Amino acid sequence: MSGFNLLSVVIPVFNEEDNLDELIPRCLSACDSIGIKYEIILIDDGSKDSSPEIIGRASENHPGKIIGVFLNRNYGQHAAVMAGFKESRGDIIVTLDADLQNPPEEIPRLVEAARQGYDVVGTVRKDREDSLFRRISSAIINKAVQKSTGVMMHDYGCMLRAYQRNIVDTVLECDERSTFIPILANNYAHTTTEIEVRHEARRGGVTKYSFFNLINLMFDLFTSMTTFPLRLLSIIGVGIAILGIGFGLLLLLLRIIHGPAWAGEGVFTLFAILFIFIGAQFMGMGLLGEYIGRIYNNVRSRPFFLVKRVTGRDFNKGN
Ligand code: UDP
Ligand code: MG
Repeated sequence: MSGFNLLSVVIPVFNEEDNLDELIPRCLSACDSIGIKYEIILIDDGSKDSSPEIIGRASENHPGKIIGVFLNRNYGQHAAVMAGFKESRGDIIVTLDADLQNPPEEIPRLVEAARQGYDVVGTVRKDREDSLFRRISSAIINKAVQKSTGVMMHDYGCMLRAYQRNIVDTVLECDERSTFIPILANNYAHTTTEIEVRHEARRGGVTKYSFFNLINLMFDLFTSMTTFPLRLLSIIGVGIAILGIGFGLLLLLLRIIHGPAWAGEGVFTLFAILFIFIGAQFMGMGLLGEYIGRIYNNVRSRPFFLVKRVTGRDFNKGN
């Protein structure tokens, strides 16, 4: 691609002190090998360990090459990436996890693909090193995303991705709360491609996603992609109502045929049926609640995050 002169690598960091000492040199040498100007933006997402100090020191040692962005508390991975996007100035932006599950050595290949002009370069994890539960839940998510957005990408869970500047700018304009960046970006991408990358087990530390976080993420994804479940709800509701009327008529008929003694026993059937309907209603209400809760958050449109300070920027440039 012509006019490409700066690469930004955006890495969210939350309690990753075990990995940073290895991550930073590996990123630096991977970026050096491309032979272009670059900036590596490390966003400290309110870490409680020594990650902020490590990032601060790295940005002092490599000013201009390593930029530290410090959020004042923990806002979550995607908010951290958004903060990194905001700080980035590159023509191509690469996102990467800090836990070395995606080797930084893959960055040059991503950049190479992005240079061919693709709006978004996704990756597919070869030999995925995650727990079975994680693999199953992400398989479900991937299928749902493909169905509802119609964008064909195989691995949405993998954050190792490259974006063109205009895509990132558009994503930044989105005033959406529960953002799942790979999907948001794909809404604006015209051309996409995928490359295969290696995937390794987490180097140090533990995963930052608990079971409930994952469920929340799933609902986020689900509700941000489509309102089809709401429509499905009404369809199911109508179906159940028709069934209910049918049952009512049937019970009335049997009451007439068999007399009141039969109806006395039928009470239990009625209860059983009633519970099914009540259950269905609660499910529907819960789903509505998921949407309404998110609408509420969006309407408040509070800022995503608060940046405490930025280190490693060249002061002559006047930022
Ligand atoms: N992360 C973050 N804020 C959070 C949780 C995670 O910045 O609240 C970062 C984390 O440091 C890592 C990336 O997001 O760089 C992915 O997190 P993790 O590896 O725990 O997720 P998993 O690989 O288990 O999906
Ligand atoms: Mg990870």
